[in-house]
Amino acid sequence: MQIVKHPLLSPAPGTQRELVSLHYGTVGSEAGKAYIQASLHADELPGMLTAHHLRRQLAALEAAGRIVGEVILVPMANPIGLSQHVLHSHLGRFELTTGENFNRHYPDQIEAVATAVESHLGPDPAANVKLLRTALRQAIEAAPVETELQSLRRTLLQLSCDADIVLDLHCDAEAVVHLYTETPCAEACDPLARFLRSRLTLLAMDSGDNPFDEACSQVWWKWKARFGERFPIPQACLSVTVELRGATDVTHELASEDAKNIIDFLHWRGLITGAARALPEPVGDARPLAGSMPIKSPATGVLTFLKPVGSEVKQGDVLAHVIDPITDEVTELLSPVDGLFFARDFLRFATRGMRVAKVAGREAIRTGKLLGA
Ligand SMILES: [Zn+2]
Repeated sequence: MQIVKHPLLSPAPGTQRELVSLHYGTVGSEAGKAYIQASLHADELPGMLTAHHLRRQLAALEAAGRIVGEVILVPMANPIGLSQHVLHSHLGRFELTTGENFNRHYPDQIEAVATAVESHLGPDPAANVKLLRTALRQAIEAAPVETELQSLRRTLLQLSCDADIVLDLHCDAEAVVHLYTETPCAEACDPLARFLRSRLTLLAMDSGDNPFDEACSQVWWKWKARFGERFPIPQACLSVTVELRGATDVTHELASEDAKNIIDFLHWRGLITGAARALPEPVGDARPLAGSMPIKSPATGVLTFLKPVGSEVKQGDVLAHVIDPITDEVTELLSPVDGLFFARDFLRFATRGMRVAKVAGREAIRTGKLLGA
C-alpha cells in the first residue's frame, strides 16, 4: 500500500491542510479501478470507521497477493470540515466560509473534454473510454482553483474521475442503509445493494447542483447522449452515494460488516481474486428519488416519532407528533404516500416548515432540484 499526501491550497499563512489517499493493487490494471472515500460530510462518521476496517481487510488481501485491480481509499475526505467546530458543535456539512455544501458544485468538464477528443473517437468503446478518461483527468488537473474548498473538490475528482467504481460513504441522521445513484447506473448498482443489504436505492439523473457521485457518473451518459450513434460510449463508471444508516451508528460490528460487504462487492466485480461469495438475494429495491417525499412539520414544538426507521407505511399513517409546549396542541405528521419510512432527523424540536423525515414511494412526484440542502 502506498500513502499519498495531497496538499490543499493554503487559505492563510501558517495553515496548510492535506488530503491523504491510500493506494492498493496495480495502477492501470485490466481488472479495473475502485475509488472509495469516507466522510465528505465531515460529521458523518460511520464511513470513517468503515474505512478503518476496510484498511485492515485490504492490507490482509494485499499481503495474500489477492488485489488484482486498483483500489484507492480516502479514509477522511474532508479535512476542512473536520476542523469546523463552533460552540462545541461539529459542523461538517457546509463550509463555514461560503455556506456551500461540501457535496455540491463539483466542476463540469463534459463539453470541454468532448470537444477536445471528438476527432480521435472511433468504433471501439474501450478505446473511447481510455481516451475520454485521459482527457478528463487532464482537464480536471488543468482547471484553475482559487480557494481551499475548490482545491479539495479538484483533488477528490483527480483521484476518482477515471475509476470504474466510485463509492462515497455518507450517513443520514437516523436511517436504514440506502443508496443514491444515477438511473444509468441502476443495473450495475444492484449487486452492491444486495451485498450491502440495502433497503432502498434512490435513482435520479442530474438531481441538481452537481454532487460528487453524479460528477463521476454523469460524464458517461452525457457523452453518450452527445455522441449518439456516431461513437459508442458505455456507462464506464458506477458511482454511488452509500448512506450507512444514522450519524450515531458508529460501531465496530456494523463497520466491519459494511467493510466486508464492500470487499465482497469488489471481489464479485473482479478486483480481488479467490472464491467469491455468491450474490445475495435483494432485501430492498430501487425507486425514483423524485418519489422520496420529505415530511415537513407545519407546526412547531417537541417532536416525537411513532414509527421506527425501516417501517413500511401507508398514505395517511401517523409518523410523528409535534406538540406545542404552551397550548398542548398535538399536530400529527402523516405519510403522504405508501412507501418506506427510511430516514428521520435526530433533532427532537421541530421549527415550522422543518423537514423531519423521508418516505420513499414508488411514483416520481417531485420536480426541480431533488436533493435537500
Ligand atoms: Zn452526507
